[in-house]
Amino acid sequence: MSEALIKSIQKDLYIGGDWHESSDRQRFDVRDPATEEVIATVASATADDATAAVTAAFDAGPEWAARPAVERADILRKSYDLMMARADDYATVISREEGKTLAEGLGEVNYAASFMRWYGEEAVRYSGKFGRAPAGNNNILVQHKPVGVSLLITPWNFPAAMATRKIAPALAAGCTTILKPASETPLTALMLASLYEEAGVPPGVVNVLPSRSSSVISDTIMSDIRTRKISFTGSTEVGKLLLAKAAETIINCSMELGGNAPFIVLDDADLDISAEAALVAKIRSAGESCIAANRFYVHSSVLDDFSRRLSDMMSRLKVGPGLDPGIDVGPLVNAETRDKVEELVDQAVKLGATIMTGGQRIGDTGFYYEPTVIVDIPAEAEILHTEIFGPVATIVAFDDDDEVIEMANNTIFGLAAYICGKDIGRALHIADRIDAGIMGINRGFVSDASAPFGGFKQSGIGREGSQDGLHEFFETKYIAVDW
Ligand code: NAP
Repeated sequence: MSEALIKSIQKDLYIGGDWHESSDRQRFDVRDPATEEVIATVASATADDATAAVTAAFDAGPEWAARPAVERADILRKSYDLMMARADDYATVISREEGKTLAEGLGEVNYAASFMRWYGEEAVRYSGKFGRAPAGNNNILVQHKPVGVSLLITPWNFPAAMATRKIAPALAAGCTTILKPASETPLTALMLASLYEEAGVPPGVVNVLPSRSSSVISDTIMSDIRTRKISFTGSTEVGKLLLAKAAETIINCSMELGGNAPFIVLDDADLDISAEAALVAKIRSAGESCIAANRFYVHSSVLDDFSRRLSDMMSRLKVGPGLDPGIDVGPLVNAETRDKVEELVDQAVKLGATIMTGGQRIGDTGFYYEPTVIVDIPAEAEILHTEIFGPVATIVAFDDDDEVIEMANNTIFGLAAYICGKDIGRALHIADRIDAGIMGINRGFVSDASAPFGGFKQSGIGREGSQDGLHEFFETKYIAVDW
């Protein structure tokens, strides 16, 4: 059934409301990480295609910006309805190209669609400001104008949600867009192109450009002075390259980058709640999430109990193809990601760490890795300092609050952090001192379209979701006026 579904997806470039071959007719393969089989070949955009997409987005800009907000809101609402009506199809395709389980795919579809509903509601709510200068000699009018043609670059780990989290606020603000999806997962993005067309998005407002030459596409689009915005989600390393490129033409930047989330279990924590939250924060999408708990800091008085509970839960998880019934953890997205996880674990073990459960890749076909818990990890082990992006929990003991706050903040990243403890005042006090943009207290699930999502430090610039996400797509105009 999923073969017929994948066959039905348009696999060319979506530019100006039409489907095009790439200008040099190049295509690339999309593989299922569960089997390593090629499931589709997709057109690979070139520099000429990128310029054509900028032209389409630029030409469509004035009319889209001038559409009454209520019409843009209606189109977003229709996009929400269409996505929810086909939730199973989206979840299936996400699972086939990215690897997550069907249940996780459905969770992602709900989250992805919620941005269309939320920003449809917000499109008609934002307003400007009017004020009188304190000296009484001027009237101050402030308006929000769409920033203009926006390049949206997304990662593979949430192929639907990372796209809609950008497209929905951009459309609500009146911007036109070019989406460059990750080349591991272009199919979901191509389905979105058809969905927006069906919902009534005019030609040129959403363009979708899969490409194997990602830097050629971003360089071409960002060098074009008609482009006014880049919104990027991906690694900090690539984010830095794009920020440097944006400096050349002073393009407005929003950056959602990497994380290294601490998960703190205090001595007064309810260990049932903590272990449940830990499992959710660690294992969602096989650990391939920017807000995945990466470093578990557990008070030494509850260390053994918590570690045993978490490793019992992790050892019971069923690993296999995401679409098979009863599977808890799907494959990692590709061999490189699986190999990196393996190297990090092996290096920690060589340095003296102890594996409580897991610690091995699984099988010869598909990119599977066992849910793993490691303890007694030396401070110099790379696994404590880098984004693991796999189903591996590292546990380290601490003894007092100041010490754990210092450990949590000892990273260049500042995306998410989690705290478990019964004394909410104490947990909030610790939360206040941790440099992270997103915090969960006694819970491992934090994503919400109506909440600001983004990082401190090298985890990013700006926010997605909430009203903040809409403002990322505005320019502010001040008009001084006498009457
Ligand atoms: P990535 O390697 O940085 O790739 C992200 C996107 O950038 C892809 O579309 C990729 O295209 C493109 N890209 C890669 N190199 C590029 C270059 N030199 N110039 C222009 N574009 C380039 O990240 P990923 O491996 O897909 O995703 C995982 C990372 O994303 C993790 O670090 C994770 O923490 C982060 N992330 C952050 C958030 C957040 O909200 N903060 C959310 C999700 C993920 P190709 O696929 O074609 O190379």
